[in-house]
Amino acid sequence: MRIKISDKITVITTEQGFTYANWIHINDDISALIETGMDRDGLMGLDPERIDLAVNSHHHLDHIRGNAMFSNAALMIHGLEADLIQDAGRHRIANSLDEWRTLMPEDDRSLADDELQAAYGAVDPFPFESGQSVVTVSDGQLLDFGSVKAQVLHTPGHSAGHCCFFFPEENLLYSADVCLTKAGPWYGEHLADPGQMTASIDRLIALAPERMISGHIHALVYDCVPRLREFKSRIISREERIYRSLVACPKDIHRLAEEKLIYRSHGSQYVVFWEKLMLMKHIEKLRERGLVRAESGVFYGVR
Ligand SMILES: [Zn+2]
Ligand SMILES: [Zn+2]
Repeated sequence: MRIKISDKITVITTEQGFTYANWIHINDDISALIETGMDRDGLMGLDPERIDLAVNSHHHLDHIRGNAMFSNAALMIHGLEADLIQDAGRHRIANSLDEWRTLMPEDDRSLADDELQAAYGAVDPFPFESGQSVVTVSDGQLLDFGSVKAQVLHTPGHSAGHCCFFFPEENLLYSADVCLTKAGPWYGEHLADPGQMTASIDRLIALAPERMISGHIHALVYDCVPRLREFKSRIISREERIYRSLVACPKDIHRLAEEKLIYRSHGSQYVVFWEKLMLMKHIEKLRERGLVRAESGVFYGVR
């Protein structure tokens, strides 16, 4: 669906689920995209050759999957993730796939990979090693497309270099994977951090935009502050549930994951893997606060 924000800004929402993402076309002196989460059909009449700049909120495949389609475009991303959109190997490690053996000892990752591959569908052309130039952005930077301006907000937590973009003239926030969907928030990779994500959401709450859209919802949101507060509260509730569970009965990560304290449904092996990665993030936080201790891989809640 196309949502016209002004004669120069169009938000295009994806109908294709979590392996794709919404994107924004800015048709100004610079012809730019924020995100390239579309498939070829999703381009809707846009000539890829005429895009000058593709800005990625962060390195996840659903946001960068179309990067290589825009051969004349420079890519733009936060400095912490510039290498991750150019190198498939580093991208996989950043996604914590090296943790698979420890957290999923019973499960064959190649089967899980097939499952994920099926979900992602063909990514063509492959977005890594496309040879496009990469320009880095940092917090507070104003992106100047001509008459349209957007401010970069570095909002780590979901990933280390995750950024949101605020259009001051339009009072519109693009919140990327501060996604506001039922499944979120997600912080299941090495440099993801639920504490940082909470702080980043607080920053968006303080900004109090008039309207916002994320990478994965299908309409503009106008009650931004309550929606962001509710989204943040899920991170806090998850940590409380984990603490209560470990106080009630000590257990290892595998037993804890069976309780589905983060994802109510474990429909695929990757969801179980993400559950475990995110549980470990919370356990780290609880250990820092002296509320959990570990002994031989078993976690004990401290009253
Ligand atoms: Zn993401
Ligand atoms: Zn996403």
